[in-house]
Amino acid sequence: MYLSRFSVQGFRNLHKLEVNFDSNVNIFIGKNAQGKTNLLEAIYFLALTRSHRTSNDSELINFTKEYANLSGEVHKSQIEIDLRVLITNKGKKVWINRLQQPKLSKYVGQLNAVLFSPEDLELVKGAPALRRRFMDQEFGQINAEYLYFSSKYRQVLNQKNNYLKKLSRGKVRDTLFLDVLSDQLAGIAAEIIVRRYKFLNYLSHAAQDAYEHISLASEKLTIEYKPSVSEISSQDATEEIYHKVLDNFKKMKPAELKRGTTLSGPHRDDIIFKLDGKNAHLYASQGQQRSIALSVKLAEIQLVHNVTNEYPLLLLDDVMSELDHGRQSALLNYIHGKTQTFITTTDLEGISWEIIKKPKIYHVQNGEVSLEKEN
Ligand code: ATP
Ligand code: MG
Repeated sequence: MYLSRFSVQGFRNLHKLEVNFDSNVNIFIGKNAQGKTNLLEAIYFLALTRSHRTSNDSELINFTKEYANLSGEVHKSQIEIDLRVLITNKGKKVWINRLQQPKLSKYVGQLNAVLFSPEDLELVKGAPALRRRFMDQEFGQINAEYLYFSSKYRQVLNQKNNYLKKLSRGKVRDTLFLDVLSDQLAGIAAEIIVRRYKFLNYLSHAAQDAYEHISLASEKLTIEYKPSVSEISSQDATEEIYHKVLDNFKKMKPAELKRGTTLSGPHRDDIIFKLDGKNAHLYASQGQQRSIALSVKLAEIQLVHNVTNEYPLLLLDDVMSELDHGRQSALLNYIHGKTQTFITTTDLEGISWEIIKKPKIYHVQNGEVSLEKEN
């Protein structure tokens, strides 16, 4: 799939933009703080109705405006669709082909995008929360049920935590309601956990392939899902997982009452990356960790393609300069001709562009985007 026309009003420093993108490669050059990341963030938001940088949508609205508006024309192999998102301080609204959609979960997935920024190089090294966010964003955009259950989970988890806080402070005494919430939460947790197993299993294979391709090394990459309820195994059916999560909630109840928060469940899960069976968080070199992060991003592209039959857009924010020449070439080779790609950079120098044929080059300055004249 690709995005042809894109228009933006009042999104961060992008006051008013109307851009036509190339269906292959688009390169955005500009000095710091001109709006390059904002532009990729806007495209990402049109696809996922969320930002990769903030969970507070109000931050996205230009300081001097009341709302931000994004719209674009998406071309898929069979159809073309018009998408639109309106962000106000009261919330957001979405349209497909000018028809307002009451549910975000109906909208998300119409346009798929995979974003790669320097922070993603932390995927292996960083905190578990980073890896959970990765799962929620990526699996949510290819599976409407996952999206639904993960937002439901957050909602019920909040409810349960609030109630636990009240119990722990002696403001309420009835623990029966707590059990009701735990039961509900375990049911939703099981739905999330089976899907995490399924998608991570697929990602593991695709990432292994990509790792081989970009590292030219002989180590074998594997990705393992580590649910915080350790009794669960990949062979378990949803029902069994539900019982195991619920049993765990029961076992942890005294500790949870004391701490006033839920101590296990999908919000405490993690992913383990291994090279030749050894934990990459502990043993892999900086370069190996970067190769793993990059492989996982490339695997996501395959995962989206596998599920939707279309390649997602690839948004590369400032990552080219962070990769050495070997990895740059491997990356560009891997994606060449498959995905519509958006690359930001402060400088064209030091990047091996020769692989890309005829990219469209734009300059970003003070929130304005202009196409470089072809020579
Ligand atoms: P770098 O090369 O440093 O990454 P960049 O071109 O990616 O720079 P952006 O992050 O896209 O820069 O843009 C940053 C600019 O956007 C800053 O000047 C910031 O003040 C401005 N900005 C951020 N949010 C808003 C907002 N809500 N309203 C207006 N301007 C904003
Ligand atoms: Mg930036």
